[in-house]
Amino acid sequence: MRKLTCHCEQVFNVDLPETVNVDESPDVIARIADGSFLSCVCPACNSVLQTDVRTRIEWPSKSRTIELIPEVDRLSYLSGAIKVDGVTDVVIGYPELSDRIAALQAGLEPAAMEALKYHLSVKAKESSADANVEIVFEKITDSGNLEFHVHGLRKGEVAVTSVPRRVYDAIVAELTGGESPELYETIKNGPYVSVKNILIEGNE
Ligand SMILES: [Zn+2]
Repeated sequence: MRKLTCHCEQVFNVDLPETVNVDESPDVIARIADGSFLSCVCPACNSVLQTDVRTRIEWPSKSRTIELIPEVDRLSYLSGAIKVDGVTDVVIGYPELSDRIAALQAGLEPAAMEALKYHLSVKAKESSADANVEIVFEKITDSGNLEFHVHGLRKGEVAVTSVPRRVYDAIVAELTGGESPELYETIKNGPYVSVKNILIEGNE
């Protein structure tokens, strides 16, 4: 049982799993994508709460074990106050979880995806310096390109951008080529591989 506090201040216990196995419960993939994973209903005000409580997601067929750390614990994790052992991936906050699952499901390499997001963020900053963009992998298109959604360029708008597959393949080649560019090393912080490990110019 997990103890949650609703925005209405009701404190209640909810039966959310601490560990899930994607191979045994394949519906987890769709539930993570549509946002219903880790959500529950407050018994006092009936609000649907979308949580990011700490959860381990095991995916043996992909050789991955992913630990979700709540966004509120980001600094505690980065400062070493929260320890995570025996995982391949750490993700912080629900958007990073859903993006990682989508990438792995599509057979894509997480570090290369985060590097791509970095390049897209830099481009977004060029067109709108004070934008606080969030880039989300959407899908592989019919022509094999990678489609991303860019949130935050303009208020309330989502920009759709398509990256040619060869650009992704080139980053994978750089990552596995022995002499990995420093940028890509910065993206990796132990099991926490994220574009958020890099401060992007113009980002406060
Ligand atoms: Zn409530």
